[in-house]
Amino acid sequence: MTVFSNPAFDNHERVLFCRDEPTGLCAIIAIHSTALGPAAGGTRLWTYANDDDALYDVLRLSQGMSYKNAMAGLKFGGGKAVIIKTPDFDASDALFERFGEFVDTLGGDYITAEDVGMSVEIMETIARRTRYVSGLPLQSGKAGGDPSPKTAYGLYCGIQAAAKARLGRDDLEGMRVAVQGVGHVGYHLCKLLHEAGATLVVSDLDETRVDRVCDEFSAERVGNTEILGADVDVLAPCALGAILHEESIPGLKARIIAGGANNQLRSPEDGQRLADAGILYAPDYVINAGGIINVACEYFGDVDDDGVTELVAQIGSRLADIFEEASRTGEPTNVIADRRARKIISGDV
Ligand code: NAD
Repeated sequence: MTVFSNPAFDNHERVLFCRDEPTGLCAIIAIHSTALGPAAGGTRLWTYANDDDALYDVLRLSQGMSYKNAMAGLKFGGGKAVIIKTPDFDASDALFERFGEFVDTLGGDYITAEDVGMSVEIMETIARRTRYVSGLPLQSGKAGGDPSPKTAYGLYCGIQAAAKARLGRDDLEGMRVAVQGVGHVGYHLCKLLHEAGATLVVSDLDETRVDRVCDEFSAERVGNTEILGADVDVLAPCALGAILHEESIPGLKARIIAGGANNQLRSPEDGQRLADAGILYAPDYVINAGGIINVACEYFGDVDDDGVTELVAQIGSRLADIFEEASRTGEPTNVIADRRARKIISGDV
């Protein structure tokens, strides 16, 4: 396993390998930066082909959180955790409590929340062992709970900004949007888009989730291999990352990519490929910051739920600004966003 020479290492401040034999816990916590505040980012529960893939994933996600939190104007640094679903994985309370103890050893330098495979209930279990947890059940009117509805709202605002910038559209009525992955985020996004009059094309590995959005929002079902090439205005990747690359980009028909998945570009050069293909890309960590904004407001306890919605809505104007610079300079949107994020982290703003 490579650590310091790992392509995603990028001067991480700390990486904690968490192993507990009695519960079977295998996890990695990565802290990329605490320059702006405690490193915040969710925990992903996932099956990996090997430990190297898990390490690469957590490092890349953690760096992405630094950029995301900086761009969202939060007093958070960037971190992330993965709990590895080993072949004999048992999702016991004891395992998640043990994970909470590992989080606690970091003394608040890392704050966790939900990511793929996690739930509010699991966060409550983790919270029995550490107070450095967010994404806990919502108390009436207060910020908190499952962050995915707020993530979806941020995507919706971002899609509106992209539709204005690329298609000159002021509304989403009649627009065709393909949503890859209709889990927590994808489901809520479909709901908002349906209410705005958009036509939905969806796919998911879990057919019951596809059934639900087809029933509730009159979505059209396509296969998991066809969704990327669907004949739509907007493609919203809301499953996993690294789906945009040399091989997939030539097959895209959408003129806008705007979705919730983290690390949608397999490499930074794919941003240039999208720009060359005339596709407007909403940088993933800018458009999908709604959930972490919700987490921050819950953690710091300084803004109520309506206030969170207002902060999340600013994702639209933040993206419009990046789109404007891209159109003026010809630079890919991901390059512009990365530069802005690094400036904020280094205090050079
Ligand atoms: P989720 O696990 O609830 O949903 C993901 C869905 O994608 C699942 O239904 C899964 O079956 C499906 N999926 C996986 N691979 C697929 C494939 N190849 N084709 C089609 N479907 C596939 O997770 P989520 O919370 O909705 O998060 C979705 C994405 O958004 C993730 O990349 C996550 O990191 C990112 N994200 C989530 C939040 C949040 O608030 N939950 C915030 C920011 C970013």
